[in-house]
Amino acid sequence: MIYIFCAPSGSGKSTMVNHLLTKHPNLFELSISCTTRAPRGQEVHGKEYYFISVEDFQKRIENDDFIEYEQVYEGLYYGTLKEEIERIEKAGRQVLFDVDVKGGINLKRILEDRATSIFICPPSIEELRRRLEGRGDTSPEMIEKRLAKAETELSYKKYFDRVVVNDDLHHAFAQLDAIIDENRDLRR
Ligand code: ADP
Ligand code: 5GP
Repeated sequence: MIYIFCAPSGSGKSTMVNHLLTKHPNLFELSISCTTRAPRGQEVHGKEYYFISVEDFQKRIENDDFIEYEQVYEGLYYGTLKEEIERIEKAGRQVLFDVDVKGGINLKRILEDRATSIFICPPSIEELRRRLEGRGDTSPEMIEKRLAKAETELSYKKYFDRVVVNDDLHHAFAQLDAIIDENRDLRR
């Protein structure tokens, strides 16, 4: 089973994905996307993302290397390489995707029953702002852009297989663990 995680920025998607990677280090692996944005903080090429130029991104589009890609923010492109799924599945692990809402809906449409799509929902827009500001790695201008986008993204949650409300962190982890256990039981 492939898991697709989507959420408005700041909802706790990375926190959820990291929970699964820490709890099951040999079961899951995160697909690394390409992006044209610059690295933030301690981010490293080949770990959080493949940081590439707009020209390289364009070449990869022409080569049909992406299973999906989006201009997630004005002038900033993000894309999932087809070869990431092969790389991770060859290593005997299950793929986790952390992509924007449109990308997630596209991936689910392509992968169908091979994937479970999970929408991580913030308890409120006010709390989303607090979390983005608290993370301290995003400029005030980008925070406003992300919040403006969040309202639209929230309206797409009905297209996802599962919704996890990330209010109390441990409760959210428990909801996520239950989804994973359910899928593993179904496959036994
Ligand atoms: P995303 O990947 O969706 O952009 P993050 O996982 O980076 O979001 O979370 C945004 C910020 O909110 C981080 O500083 C994180 O530690 C914090 N956070 C995540 N979940 C919770 C929660 N349930 N309660 C309070 N803070 C949270
Ligand atoms: P950030 O700049 O905060 O790392 O990511 C911004 C947004 O881009 C997040 O919602 C993230 O999930 C999304 N994203 C990351 N990789 C991809 C990708 O390969 N495809 C799509 N469609 N979105 C992505």
